[in-house]
Amino acid sequence: MEIVQTVGEFKQLRPGLTAPLGFVPTMGYLHEGHLELVRRAKTENPSVAVSIFVNPTQFGPKEDFAQYPRDPERDLALLKKEGTDVVFMPPAAEMYPPDFNGWVEVGKLAEKLEGAARPGHFRGVATVVAKLFNIVQPDKAYFGQKDAQQLVVIKKMASDLDMGIEIVAVPTVREPDGLAMSSRNTYLNAGERKQAAVLYQALTLAQKLYAEGERDAEAIREQMTALIGQQPLADIEYISIADAETLDELDRVKPPALVSMAVRFGKTRLIDNVVVG
Ligand code: AMP
Repeated sequence: MEIVQTVGEFKQLRPGLTAPLGFVPTMGYLHEGHLELVRRAKTENPSVAVSIFVNPTQFGPKEDFAQYPRDPERDLALLKKEGTDVVFMPPAAEMYPPDFNGWVEVGKLAEKLEGAARPGHFRGVATVVAKLFNIVQPDKAYFGQKDAQQLVVIKKMASDLDMGIEIVAVPTVREPDGLAMSSRNTYLNAGERKQAAVLYQALTLAQKLYAEGERDAEAIREQMTALIGQQPLADIEYISIADAETLDELDRVKPPALVSMAVRFGKTRLIDNVVVG
């Protein structure tokens, strides 16, 4: 497994990688969710590159950039075990030199949901992913359904800018109690961790109500809110039922619909979603 830290080094070894090249961008502190993306990439490509980069431009000024968990040695051992060919782990100055000023904006899609709660977040995400795509030049790139809006934004960017990279969605990997795996789960204390299982319970409830014929989005949201409200440490930021492609909010649930939410437990902000229909 090659480990490179500069754009120049990556470009040098790029021609030696057997096509097609699969690429998995991450912020590190890897868990089974990330590894599932790597495994999927391995099954579909003879070469796999993974990036580890905690991207400062996608964090707001009051967010957890400094505290974001990091453990590069453990990450590298896990990636080696999965048969990763190249790991790109640049320092921040390699990606953002002092005179950096080229940004990728994806417009309306980036302003809803997570974008409304975290202004500038998707500008940072789209910019870093565009840069990584240009450096790595993959044939296929793998993203988790866990970050559903990110997936929609990246697909739109790749298509609008004719990047010629296939964007592959990988289903969310969950803990046994249903909690979506996330590097941020490590912030939760024991009480919060236990109650955090309610996110998936609420999403499962939405699926059940839909399966039983409920189409009134507000009625579904109300029942989800009541269920989550039973956990005293949970503080709902939003629950959304939106068109899975446009992310426009729905009054009547029309498939495929994205049911998504952000819920805070103390200082930790968790997101999760399911697609119904
Ligand atoms: P991150 O390191 O949080 O930026 O995530 C890197 C990639 O892993 C993104 O495409 C995420 O959507 C994906 N990912 C994170 N958690 C999970 C999960 N529990 N299941 C599937 N994919 C995930």
